[in-house]
Amino acid sequence: MYLPQLSIKNTGKLFEVKTVYCIGKNYADHINEMKIDGIDNNIPAEPVVFLKPSSSIDVPGNIVKIPVLNGELISNDLQNEVELVIIIGKDGNDIPEGNAYDYILGYAVGIDFTLRDIQTNLKKQGKPWAIAKGFRSSSPVSEIALKVNIPNPDNLQIKLSVNGILKQNGNTSQMIFKIPYLIYYLSSVFGLHAGDIIFTGTPAGVCTLKTGDTINAFINNVGELNVTIG
Ligand code: MG
Repeated sequence: MYLPQLSIKNTGKLFEVKTVYCIGKNYADHINEMKIDGIDNNIPAEPVVFLKPSSSIDVPGNIVKIPVLNGELISNDLQNEVELVIIIGKDGNDIPEGNAYDYILGYAVGIDFTLRDIQTNLKKQGKPWAIAKGFRSSSPVSEIALKVNIPNPDNLQIKLSVNGILKQNGNTSQMIFKIPYLIYYLSSVFGLHAGDIIFTGTPAGVCTLKTGDTINAFINNVGELNVTIG
């Protein structure tokens, strides 16, 4: 079975990615900016969870592309979502919040690229919006920083620039559901395994991208990620 790989900073080791979990609506300012589509944009009572294929982390040449069907781009609205990614290093079910950090290997910077027009349209129809989030190259992830280097993952500056202009600028302290609860929740529902990764949601500042845009994503202490829109 093919599993995509991430490198672990300063170790020469590789990490094989199994399941990619994503949390939606985890920053209040992003929920607010999404209210314009008028669909279900309240603060959630429990985490909003979706999955992407692990193959979506493979981004050849660091170039992110909108898929083409029948000779035409399937979307006109590719958007950025910078996110802290939790890297799971140990198997566990029903992990208590108090033990959650024992299951974390490290952290990375990820971008949850989204075809917003498709997502909004499918949401309106009550249909699954997997293609809006899980398309090829939709989930670039940086090298992994081991957790020993990140003593306080709940207080990290998280930002993203497009062509050198700052668009997203938040702090992981703004997350509605915190890391221990996300691990408790996902391990209780799905079970977590070494190799799983968790995108933890994005702060405000998502915007429409165009071909040739260069994107820099950065999280304090964790690292950075550079991609181009192809
Ligand atoms: Mg997201």
